[in-house]
Amino acid sequence: MSTYVEARDVAAAVAAMADGARPVAGGTDLVVGARHGKAPLPESIVGIHRIPGLSEIAVTDGVVRIGALTSHAAILASAELAAATPGLLDASAIVGSHATRANGTLGGNVMNASPAMDTGAPLLCHDAVAVLTGPGGTRRVGLADLWTGPGRTSASADELMEAVELPVPPAGAGSAYVRLQYRRQMEIAVVGAGAYVELDDSGVVTVARVAISALTPVICRVPAAEEALMGRRLGTNGSISSRSDAVSAQTSPMADALQAAGQAAAEAATPISDVRASASYRTAMAAVITRRAIAAALTRATGGTVAVPASDWSQR
Ligand SMILES: Cc1cc2nc3c(=O)[nH]c(=O)nc-3n(C[C@H](O)[C@H](O)[C@H](O)COP(=O)(O)OP(=O)(O)OC[C@H]3O[C@@H](n4cnc5c(N)ncnc54)[C@H](O)[C@@H]3O)c2cc1C
Repeated sequence: MSTYVEARDVAAAVAAMADGARPVAGGTDLVVGARHGKAPLPESIVGIHRIPGLSEIAVTDGVVRIGALTSHAAILASAELAAATPGLLDASAIVGSHATRANGTLGGNVMNASPAMDTGAPLLCHDAVAVLTGPGGTRRVGLADLWTGPGRTSASADELMEAVELPVPPAGAGSAYVRLQYRRQMEIAVVGAGAYVELDDSGVVTVARVAISALTPVICRVPAAEEALMGRRLGTNGSISSRSDAVSAQTSPMADALQAAGQAAAEAATPISDVRASASYRTAMAAVITRRAIAAALTRATGGTVAVPASDWSQR
């Protein structure tokens, strides 16, 4: 039998966590997982969903701050995030069902630390940090240092995530997240890839970040893929088919760069085989999905439109 208390502020939540309670936000991982027999409910639980101020999205002083309790549905509804972090919207749009997106939070997704979580790759590409508050105060941890293994983080048991923060992207930036899935809803990533690029006025890539999910024990960046993109210039017409790796001029330097980046992602992958896909299929798809994510990010960086994918969330 679990005991449950509800925290009305961060200090109360941290105090309960210091006494051994585990935080629950939307419960779509913790509670649903327990119901499905993945792991028993913790003996002591602290509800954090009513803490004021943790569901806010704010853009100030060059920083985008997304409260840990922000739901995937709220991320999708945010015009500020649509402009600044379209790759994050790609991810939140395909999390579970309407009910999952209404209840599931960004903080829960990040702190659950699944290697297949959807928001991880785009957040990593946006250079996001987790804002953690514990009894000793608040600290900021880069996501690459936060995730330490499947289901594990470097946060102490008494540290509450208050928010995720990332720099406001400049003009000429674009991001995207693409996942390989077998159906449009209620799916988890077979393979996922995020990309973030910045282009200068002449269409040259000046910043490139690429991350893969469901391919390694911890979602990670792929430096070789990023190097393949750096300094490359878009073709004169700059056209890239949306959500496709078919760059207009197949022999252009950018097409070559996409090929090289996809290959680098496949080489970085150390996937498992399970009922959903073999390791060799996941590796082959890593190249394809990574190319598509980069192509979509490049398209957005040039002002082109790539619709947020798959889910029918917009038809509510
Ligand atoms: C049907 C279904 C479909 C799903 N589909 C997807 C999917 O497509 N993609 C995907 O990525 N995920 C999916 N999920 C998983 C889940 O919905 C998401 O990970 C969601 O964002 C979790 O948020 P939550 O608030 O419900 O987390 P909770 O279950 O409340 O918490 C998850 C974990 O994070 C910890 N935690 C939560 N908030 C904090 C905080 N602020 N500080 C410190 N620790 C915290 C909890 O202690 C727990 O360990 C699905 C789940 C279900 C049930």
